[in-house]
Amino acid sequence: MSKPKEYSWMTKDKLMTYTFFSLIILTVITAALWSAEKTPSGWNLGLTLGINALIAVGISVGLDAFLHKIAADSQLNLLSAAVFGLIVTDSYTLGVPVMRTVELFPLEAPQCFIYVALISVVGLIIFKKIVGTSGRKYVNPAAAAKFIVMIPFLDTLLLAVDHLKSSLLQVPSLSGPLGLASVVNGNGYGGAAGAVSGFGSYVISCFSNASLKAPTATMNNLISAMLLDKFHGWPGGASAIAVIVVGIGFFVIARKYIKWRITVSYLVVVAILSLILSFVYGDAGVTVRLLFELFIGSSIFLAFFMATDPATTPLTYTGQIIFGVGLAILTVLLQTFTQFFGASFIALIIMNLTVPALDKVGRQKPTTESKEPKLPKAQAFAPDKVKVYQCMRCGACMTVCCHKLSPILIKQAFDKMDIDSMIKLNADYCTGCGHCSFVCPARIDLKGAVLRSKAMLRQQ
Ligand code: SF4
Ligand code: SF4
Repeated sequence: MSKPKEYSWMTKDKLMTYTFFSLIILTVITAALWSAEKTPSGWNLGLTLGINALIAVGISVGLDAFLHKIAADSQLNLLSAAVFGLIVTDSYTLGVPVMRTVELFPLEAPQCFIYVALISVVGLIIFKKIVGTSGRKYVNPAAAAKFIVMIPFLDTLLLAVDHLKSSLLQVPSLSGPLGLASVVNGNGYGGAAGAVSGFGSYVISCFSNASLKAPTATMNNLISAMLLDKFHGWPGGASAIAVIVVGIGFFVIARKYIKWRITVSYLVVVAILSLILSFVYGDAGVTVRLLFELFIGSSIFLAFFMATDPATTPLTYTGQIIFGVGLAILTVLLQTFTQFFGASFIALIIMNLTVPALDKVGRQKPTTESKEPKLPKAQAFAPDKVKVYQCMRCGACMTVCCHKLSPILIKQAFDKMDIDSMIKLNADYCTGCGHCSFVCPARIDLKGAVLRSKAMLRQQ
């Protein structure tokens, strides 16, 4: 007879490995798509992306190893550092056409290498390591570091007025009626020859393959640019179709540990808001706004690979859905009223800060009745023989408990000897089935901690 399983097959390292390979696939796809493009400075766009990835991953992994060497309490987590490096790479805007390279965040090599390196250093040291010593990360490290590094560009990137004052950029606004080729009620932009065209023309000329000399504003070109291959923006989202296919594959493999409800609620609400705004502003059809809001690289990549970061998102299902809805509302509002079209990462930072409150929403009501999950019987645990990690906040222990307890929260209360919280969390309902320890990818001895809490409450 085979030995009963002690733990589920998923570990934090495996989860990081799957995430890493998903991101590598997306980065390679984009580098291949972009390999025929050159920026005005003469750099190959695909090569630029590859060098960015080497810089970001190299710095992140190197710093992680270095900090572990000089500070004993800095956990060595090379895979997590490599994933962070790829997120930095895939969320750093590159591309042609390169608009106002002097004023804007550098969109091409070689200047972009310095900024990618800066974001990697700031993100790893401040937001992963220093903030992480408090026991949890409060904001997505890549998003927060990008924001900090962007602060000197506040008046050229984040503020709407800049786009209006620039004679070069002349971005039409999402807070007006949108059309494909022609201007709708005056919301359009002036081309080089003074011709005025609509939002669809702007999107196609900005995102289409630059080697197409004058891509025409047709629906086919718009769909192709937004879904298949964008040549400007977040590299991770250059091909929305690739993000969706790779993302769904990753979600299926790691389904119990990935907060896919955030992605679904985000995309649904972005679509609904786009339709509402199309109606309110009197767009000439709903497609232009819908395609833009859903599939711009910063939206689709963030939805699958940043908004679902377990460490900085809610533990409960209800919290995750509210998080996705809030993220969608803030993203659409920021993009519509500030004209900063890559603003989803700022919305993400704001929503990250609401997570401590959202963690209190939708917690299951503990019960003495037992509802057995469909899991192999976990009969023995050997916490001293396995590699234990910090809690990654996947929430799996909370969804599997047969008494609807919150094992990780009870453990945290036990670690702080917080009797009141242990009572409120009904630690005494635990019957020691061990399912929570079984599913935990961080291999935390939850069952032991909850049973010790129960014993402590019995002695009160
Ligand atoms: S050991 Fe206790 S806390 Fe863990 S799943 Fe079983 S009943 Fe819930
Ligand atoms: S303790 Fe719970 S939330 Fe934390 S990693 Fe383990 S299963 Fe996930």
